[in-house]
Amino acid sequence: MSEHEHANNSEDAAVSDLKDESAGIGETSGHPVAGERPEQVFEYARAPESRSVVHLRSSYGLFIDGAFVEPVDAKSYKTENPATEEVLAEIAAAGVEDVDRAVQAAGRAQKMVWGPMPGAERAKYLFRIARIMQERSRELAVLESLDNGKPIRESRDVDVPLAAAHFFYYAGWADKLDYAGFGPNPAPIGVAGQVIPWNFPLMMAAWKLAPALAAGNTCVLKPASTTPLSALLLAEIIQQADLPPGVVNVITGAGSLAGAALVAHPGVDKVAFTGSTEVGKDLQRALAGTGKHLTLELGGKAANIVFEDAPLDQAIEGIVNGIFFNQGEVCCAGSRLLVQESIADIVVERLKRRLATLRVGDPLDKNTDLGAINNPAQLDKIRELAAAGEAEGAIRWSPSCTLPSKGYWFAPTVFTNVSPAHRIAQEEIFGPVLSVLTFRTPEEAVAKANNTVYGLSAGV
Ligand code: NDP
Repeated sequence: MSEHEHANNSEDAAVSDLKDESAGIGETSGHPVAGERPEQVFEYARAPESRSVVHLRSSYGLFIDGAFVEPVDAKSYKTENPATEEVLAEIAAAGVEDVDRAVQAAGRAQKMVWGPMPGAERAKYLFRIARIMQERSRELAVLESLDNGKPIRESRDVDVPLAAAHFFYYAGWADKLDYAGFGPNPAPIGVAGQVIPWNFPLMMAAWKLAPALAAGNTCVLKPASTTPLSALLLAEIIQQADLPPGVVNVITGAGSLAGAALVAHPGVDKVAFTGSTEVGKDLQRALAGTGKHLTLELGGKAANIVFEDAPLDQAIEGIVNGIFFNQGEVCCAGSRLLVQESIADIVVERLKRRLATLRVGDPLDKNTDLGAINNPAQLDKIRELAAAGEAEGAIRWSPSCTLPSKGYWFAPTVFTNVSPAHRIAQEEIFGPVLSVLTFRTPEEAVAKANNTVYGLSAGV
């Protein structure tokens, strides 16, 4: 099929043409394996989701005290579609004064309105937000794919429904906190300062906001610079749900300025952060001794272990979902595959055959499996680590696929011949790159899986 023909203008496409030279690892993608029936090849008609459901504004302000307002010093930046490099909108860049305004508003709302409100009343607002999210789910999904680059199938079937489900779930808790194991009359902490990344922008916002609100806290949320739009649409939904002013505030802008000012603000009682391990460590240092509560959800380098008695077809699907879902931009992505030596060749061969069927391209096309990498800095990081993998002696393979000429793209990539000391076995790549290692005994598998500084997740 045409999408799988060799032709490309990016350095990554050149990789598509690399034939696997590792002995016994089977054919490259797309070719039948000796003794098996040739695979059927399907043509796909384009099935793009319409953009017309999204009404982008040319510019967006900060959401403070229930209203969209301009930042004090009128600074802004542009957010773009990573699949096309098209500018989507001008976004307000909050400064220290804006952060202060948002935290003050959250503090007032917490003391005067939201904290004293009975849980059953708070629950009604959360149910309302969840219902409006469901009503506007198509709009949220298209906007998320436009701003993040992820396939519409994932934003439509995963991000948006799970975000709404999260509000429903915590709405159910709001009037049951006395029975949640915190003792009678558990008290809210106060104002939560919440900083989130770009890989699941709406879902991360829901994960942060819903539980904090259910428990009577108010929030100042800072989305990632490259994916502010779904959080701003959520702010509109929050307005539509008539949430009292100041209960949720959304400030956009640079992490190093607005994010840092938010976590350092004395009016913030609790900081919740999801993102890179480096920034997480900085926050831990900055908040040590301040008495502020801190929750961190950082990086990972998960191992998926496949033993020789595993059902291979299911294992292959697990491996593919583990690392290629959301372009591998997942903290718990299964970026290391540990496969028992006796079945390594067959697993790698079947994996390659499966990867040859993945469709990379337009995130709004409902057939797309892999969309764009979220931002150019992340693409550079993936390229750098993939180059390091080759330089250190691992064998790089990608299926033949045509990457779009504009935007930020990286073909799905598998490294074999990986040793545990390689950078691609140690560092979080946060992209569609799988490092395959082998083992002989269960003890060796466990030792290799644990040979990491991360501890986030793993699978067998
Ligand atoms: P960062 O940790 O830099 O960013 C996450 C969030 O923190 C963003 O909102 C960012 O704002 C903000 N931020 C950045 N610096 C500060 C600061 N000093 N004080 C307060 N907030 C700050 O992650 P990146 O987006 O740069 O991604 C880099 C790496 O992080 C990835 O390669 C991956 O390894 C990891 N990552 C992990 C995620 C996870 O789910 N565990 C999610 C995303 C990334 P801004 O966007 O403006 O910089």
